[in-house]
Amino acid sequence: MAIVLDGNRIRDEILAECRPRVDALAAAGRRPGLAVILAGNNPASEIYVRNKIKTCQALGIYSEKIVPAATATTEEVIELVESLNNRPEIDGILPQLPLPPQMDAKRVQLAVSPDKDVDGLHPLNLGRLAAGLPGLRPCTPAGILELLKRYRIPIGGKHAVVVGRSDLVGKPVALLLMHQHATVTICHSRTPNLAEVCARADILVAAMGRPALLTRDFIKPGATVIDVGTNRISYRAEAARIFRDSAEKLAEFDRKGSLLVGDVDPMDVAEIAGAYTPVPGGVGPLTISMLMVNTIEAAERNLGRACSA
Ligand code: NAP
Repeated sequence: MAIVLDGNRIRDEILAECRPRVDALAAAGRRPGLAVILAGNNPASEIYVRNKIKTCQALGIYSEKIVPAATATTEEVIELVESLNNRPEIDGILPQLPLPPQMDAKRVQLAVSPDKDVDGLHPLNLGRLAAGLPGLRPCTPAGILELLKRYRIPIGGKHAVVVGRSDLVGKPVALLLMHQHATVTICHSRTPNLAEVCARADILVAAMGRPALLTRDFIKPGATVIDVGTNRISYRAEAARIFRDSAEKLAEFDRKGSLLVGDVDPMDVAEIAGAYTPVPGGVGPLTISMLMVNTIEAAERNLGRACSA
């Protein structure tokens, strides 16, 4: 029987460790502060931002939600980012992705001071990651490494296959695994014989955004499978196919009108893997907790700089 890697439990552990660090910073007169920029009217982004602010409040981190006008241009958002760069009580700046189509997300990300880039997506921080230097790491990949570490899943000497090569997940998680001495293969939409490559993985990371695409043929028996994919299924027939007509899942579908599914077939992975992250409740909860860790780390570094100035 496969071990279910419980992201909610690891999130709670990480957040519990955050509390004394926030208290110590507050006692030093330097409460950490996070500014989230919510541009456009993306309902999923609104939920993510609400959860981020709620988690900040629960930990005692100061937070600000800034909503630019729907018609705001790239230049206007960059101006906003620059004003936040200059505010000492703000340690982290997070432009919630995706930004609306009229905005150039790369330019906005580039405007964030690398010291306040709690998403870890500024090229300077991605460069530090590639070079193995200290820096703010992208939250989802950092969360995956925390999960593997806390479940004591060996990485060194193992073969890790990462499916997906985005700057947000695939590339950074591959680098982090390589720094932990895994032999890493990165796959993408042009990789031939994907099943064959995946089936050689001791650690398989799926970050594609393709519902239940990785079925039993892609999974080596006993492998650790990390499913980053978050896909909303709104067709009952598709939900029935993926969950093999599970009465429980179909009742959930009927209640909610949709179901969340990862990139890995949920029934096959439970049968074949040695350990796996469920969707929901696996990787998702880790992302916000690592955002809190990054905000605290940025505040600790800023305090250190202020003391030595
Ligand atoms: P993305 O930027 O769209 O990248 C997807 C990657 O998957 C691309 O590299 C693409 O290859 C590859 N791909 C797509 N279809 C494929 C196929 N059939 N075979 C092999 N590779 C394929 O997505 P992302 O931002 O990395 O996110 C990936 C998934 O993770 C999404 O479902 C997203 O919602 C989820 N996510 C979850 C969290 C969380 O906290 N749980 C955080 C971030 C993302 P090409 O490069 O060749 O196009």
